[in-house]
Amino acid sequence: MFCTVISAQDKVDLSYYLPQNVSYNQNIPTPESIVGHQVGQWHITHDKLVQYMNALAASSDRITIENRGKTFEDRPLLLLTITSPKNHQNIDAIRTEHIAATESNSANTANMPIVVYQGFSIHGNEPSGANAGLLAVYYLAAAEGDYINELLDNTVILFDPSFNPDGLQRFAYWANTNKSINLNPDPSDREYSEVWPGGRTNHYWFDMNRDWLPVQLPESRARIASFHKWLPNILTDHHEMGTNSSFFFQPGIPSRTHPLTPKLNQELTKGIATYHAKALDKIGSLYYTEESFDDFYYGKGSTFPDINGGIGILFEQASSRGHIQESDNGILTFPFSIRNQFTAALSTLDAAKNMREEILKYQHSFYKNARNEGSRQANKAIVFGDSKDAAKTYHLAEILKRHKIKFNEVKQDFTANGKRFKKGYSYIVPKNQKNTRLINAMFEKRTTFQDSLFYDVSAWTFPLAFNLDYAEGVSTSNAGAEVTDLKFKDGNVSGRSNYAYVMEWHEYYTPKVLNSILSNGLRAKVGLKPFGLNGKEYDYGTILIPVQNQKLNAADLHKYLNELAKESHVQIDALPTGLTKGIDLGSGMFRALEQPKIALLVGDGISSYDAGEMWHLFDTRYDMTITKLDTKSIGRADLSRYNTIIMSNARSLSESSTKKIKTWVQNGGTIIGYKNTVKWFNTKEFAKLEFKKMERTAKNISYEQRGDYRGAQVIGGAIFEAEIDRTHPINFGYKNDKIAMFRNTTIFMKPNKNSYNNPIQYTKRPILSGYISKRNLDSIGSTVPLQIKGLGRGTVVAFTDNTNFRAFWYGTNKLLMNAIFFREEL
Ligand SMILES: [Zn+2]
Repeated sequence: MFCTVISAQDKVDLSYYLPQNVSYNQNIPTPESIVGHQVGQWHITHDKLVQYMNALAASSDRITIENRGKTFEDRPLLLLTITSPKNHQNIDAIRTEHIAATESNSANTANMPIVVYQGFSIHGNEPSGANAGLLAVYYLAAAEGDYINELLDNTVILFDPSFNPDGLQRFAYWANTNKSINLNPDPSDREYSEVWPGGRTNHYWFDMNRDWLPVQLPESRARIASFHKWLPNILTDHHEMGTNSSFFFQPGIPSRTHPLTPKLNQELTKGIATYHAKALDKIGSLYYTEESFDDFYYGKGSTFPDINGGIGILFEQASSRGHIQESDNGILTFPFSIRNQFTAALSTLDAAKNMREEILKYQHSFYKNARNEGSRQANKAIVFGDSKDAAKTYHLAEILKRHKIKFNEVKQDFTANGKRFKKGYSYIVPKNQKNTRLINAMFEKRTTFQDSLFYDVSAWTFPLAFNLDYAEGVSTSNAGAEVTDLKFKDGNVSGRSNYAYVMEWHEYYTPKVLNSILSNGLRAKVGLKPFGLNGKEYDYGTILIPVQNQKLNAADLHKYLNELAKESHVQIDALPTGLTKGIDLGSGMFRALEQPKIALLVGDGISSYDAGEMWHLFDTRYDMTITKLDTKSIGRADLSRYNTIIMSNARSLSESSTKKIKTWVQNGGTIIGYKNTVKWFNTKEFAKLEFKKMERTAKNISYEQRGDYRGAQVIGGAIFEAEIDRTHPINFGYKNDKIAMFRNTTIFMKPNKNSYNNPIQYTKRPILSGYISKRNLDSIGSTVPLQIKGLGRGTVVAFTDNTNFRAFWYGTNKLLMNAIFFREEL
């Protein structure tokens, strides 16, 4: 009986999913007729999904399709626009009117379609969404009758069938290759436990549902461009959660809604929820709302629309993970999870149709209120920049550009907040503009909160993440022309020298330049002290490239450096003499540098997020070739090929691998460890590190409150201020005495007795932005996020904080680069 039930569920047919009493156009191909299997029988691979979307677009006059770019693995980023054929004929006018209405006080919503963005499976191993998408798009193309006609007349659907093509493909491969003919629901079957790193993330192992605001990944860039092009009224984001749960739809926990989100947004979310409830009641599916998930971090898909005049909706379906699995709610089949997602996709559209004018009017009032807020600060602006780093400044400006935030050049150099803002190295953001609320969400520092629990980070203040100087409330009279064509500052070599070239270390891409020089077998040195020449001051960490005794002759060296400076946007100066004010160029204070040979540990025992951030950093920003050394391969690897090993947030390693790595450090290697690795360094006696003990006894906390009590002691992600010793090589390239650090751990390292061994130290009350409990704040003051210790002839570098968080923490990437390039000077 058991087996009959299971195999019957495997042979599901379309009628299991589709609404009753609807006729379907026979000329529209079903999913099965194109992909070769019924929806839910196998996990859809991305290539087959693309095939079906193209087939539907070709056969239906309700659908157009576009390819907005490629993932890292070269998969297309498709978007389908679905509406009535009549609307399609006027689609440009509909879009123009839709946007114009957000900029006017007198929009007429009577005949205006509502815009709904539906997206699926941003986490690749939460596949019921993308698989349900096949059914949703079939229904929208093929259903006949008054209901669908009215729906399509009143709605423009932006249909994003796979938010994360690379992850979806990776997971489909896993689930399908482990499927047996006789489906086995035993949760211990291999089918239900993926190998590292799993299919959740994209190519470089990023959680793409954290990138809606930073927009650093190609998938997000395409999606955010579509978003701002259309400003959808509703955006849905279909996920999966634990196998024993039921189905979740928003609203989430009310007290955890970001205070910049209007109250009405959450009320409308509740209104939309009644449609999901009604539809799920009808098919008998259990669900819940308001008890988990939240709308705080605007970098998530279901929260990002909330600061852009729309309403974001999160769906979470209990995951069958593979094809069928035992659960607290009985046998959970993949088709069942798909049917719930499909049902919620249709109930979203039903809500949109019925609440159309109310939701459109909400959007119009959102922007009207934003305009009023902006005009109250008509002459005010934010300025940001770094007088020594144009590229980092450019990259923050690039994010503003992607969000259609307007900004201007600085008219002329000026000082605000004690910082100098240089033309060409700074931008001004006027507050009086359409996206003024989004600007607030990106730039604000927040340290008081209604709730002490967060689903994700509690702070993301962008100028701090970039470690840029910035000032709020400056006058717009400092603004020059609006930047319409954002460009990198040109790099160049000031001239040809027969003696030496120098490059200050502050620009973001200097590690790329230095790595190219060293890996091409050219010699370079680092200056441990500042010096001056020809009226210019060169700071700590300036790179010296002598002309004599190089592999290239003087002419070729000049040509090579010139090309390198151009492509890396850096300034290299040609010097005619070695005699300077300060250390001369032949001084022993210039130290020869060695080419980094890096192994980045990946695989079991290592956090894939942290490792992926580094892989992405080396590969896409600095063009550095690194070896991704799997923890299972350490035993047979020849470690002498590397001078640097990086362990990002490792919790464990086998005894034999530990011993091998320790011997390698003792023989002169540099090991750089992050977060939990720091504790591991201590227990495995790589370095003697002292931690502040976190003892905690609950008082007056009930059993029911215990989860919240524990959760409140977590640092989910906040920003802290540290003082830096700029004379220490770990801090070369930073021009200020203070730095903003991101941390999401509660590992508090005690400082060393000798002050010179504490090159980075938190200030007494270091919280700059984000949530930290009072107890933790008392503990973190004056501790250190970094310790550097010797081990034999080698070096152990221990970071408690993440210097490369989610690809947008440009501000502390250089700390890692310094640990790598200047490892022998640490
Ligand atoms: Zn998810």
